[in-house]
Amino acid sequence: MFGDFMPLYFNALQVPMAKKAFNDAEKLVASQFRLSEQELKKIKYEVKTLAYLNEQEIKDGTFAHLCKYTFEKTDVFDDSCKDGFDFYRICLQDNNILDAVERANPFIKLSPLVLYIAVHELTHILRFSNGTSDFHADTDDKEKEEIIVHNLTRAALQPVKGYDLEIVLDCFSSNFKNFDLFN
Ligand SMILES: [Zn+2]
Repeated sequence: MFGDFMPLYFNALQVPMAKKAFNDAEKLVASQFRLSEQELKKIKYEVKTLAYLNEQEIKDGTFAHLCKYTFEKTDVFDDSCKDGFDFYRICLQDNNILDAVERANPFIKLSPLVLYIAVHELTHILRFSNGTSDFHADTDDKEKEEIIVHNLTRAALQPVKGYDLEIVLDCFSSNFKNFDLFN
């Protein structure tokens, strides 16, 4: 088999696997931060895979690119959306994720890697939405935030920790700078 033709997008089996990883991640994050169902619902986000991203959401060298969109109030008569709201899009870079799995074959598996990414990104979003962290922080603060988020991610993953996940955690603890950039 020639290794020159790396797939660009998740295939028909990998997409539902990624969806499941995000469902599992929501539960782990909710439990780690003791969030109620209601608090969890307040965090507005969606996940897109590479095929559905627009140009500025595609970022080379990262697994996930987090974008924040602020929706302003458009209906002057509707008080329910008085201040508008923030909305986050987790832009999965399928090609970079698949490439990492391929390179680290057989040690890094797709499912635990996507679970790690999912918990990591949800932790970022939670901290941005509750004001613990600033989405528009400078580079130094962003690097500090990456370390904090990595450690929180590790803690949130404790209940499901196994051999495959441990390898993912070890691989990316020293490599956090390449993990994501959130603006
Ligand atoms: Zn991050």
